[in-house]
Amino acid sequence: MRGAGPVRHDGTVPELPEIAALALFLRERAVGRVVMSVDVAEISALKTFSPQPAELVGRRVSGVCRHGKWIDVTTAAAADCAPLHLVVHLARAGWLRWHDHVPETPVRLGRSPLALRVRFDDGSGFSLTEAGTRRRLAVHVVTSPQQVPAIATLGVEPLSPGFTVELLGELLAARRQQVKGLLRNQGTIAGIGNAYSDEILHAARLSPFTPTTSFDPARTAELYGAIVGVLREAVEAAAGRPADDLKDAKRRNLRVHCRTGLPCRGWDGIPCGDIVHEVAFADSSLQYCPTCQTGGHPLADRRRSRLLR
Ligand SMILES: [Zn+2]
Repeated sequence: MRGAGPVRHDGTVPELPEIAALALFLRERAVGRVVMSVDVAEISALKTFSPQPAELVGRRVSGVCRHGKWIDVTTAAAADCAPLHLVVHLARAGWLRWHDHVPETPVRLGRSPLALRVRFDDGSGFSLTEAGTRRRLAVHVVTSPQQVPAIATLGVEPLSPGFTVELLGELLAARRQQVKGLLRNQGTIAGIGNAYSDEILHAARLSPFTPTTSFDPARTAELYGAIVGVLREAVEAAAGRPADDLKDAKRRNLRVHCRTGLPCRGWDGIPCGDIVHEVAFADSSLQYCPTCQTGGHPLADRRRSRLLR
């Protein structure tokens, strides 16, 4: 029976490829627009006290970019003031909705999934929403994104020129840990979460529990290729899609993540004949294919695989 175990997610938690696509989507629509209003509906989402969100009003959007899993909306005032940034982390259940015409209904505090709404001078705008009851969505208003501690401490961007196979080797050797944990650590490599770390390890034919200090140059190169390959493919699949379509597009392309009990799609895209297994933790789970990744042996799962019950 599902539902009694750990909190389950359907693979739609946004990571680097989805955030990159959302930032591109927003850039194409918002740059050049003047902010007319910023309404905060969920006070707990706002993580900064000063500057106030109202100080964004009257400023023009000059850019939208991404840092790890963060979206950074940059605004400039007419005068020679410093830029002001609206920086957003969608967390597990947050999302961005674009409106060609922002709804006229007034924003009410804490009554809906709505966390924040921004209206521009042409009537368009966007809403930040968060499903469920766990409030994790985070909004910061800052004069520099580096004032957000989680951005200041981000590790290397995996699709940047700075991410090399040599650097990956150094990161693996720096501390003995499980490779799945290293991939998800935002302070080591930015932007990879539970879904794409599963996909990367499947593509690299590696157990998620492989100790990072056991990697030789050949395995390091394979992992490097999988990181860059999986993320680049996902970024290309997501780019240009409307915000509303990104979650479905992501789910369609996953090979093991959130596919427990379904046929493995194969590390090379050719179904291997095995079914996807999972290891459950207190508040998450990972998926993998024994045939592709662990020599056919199921990994130990203290809660026991749901497939064996
Ligand atoms: Zn497989």
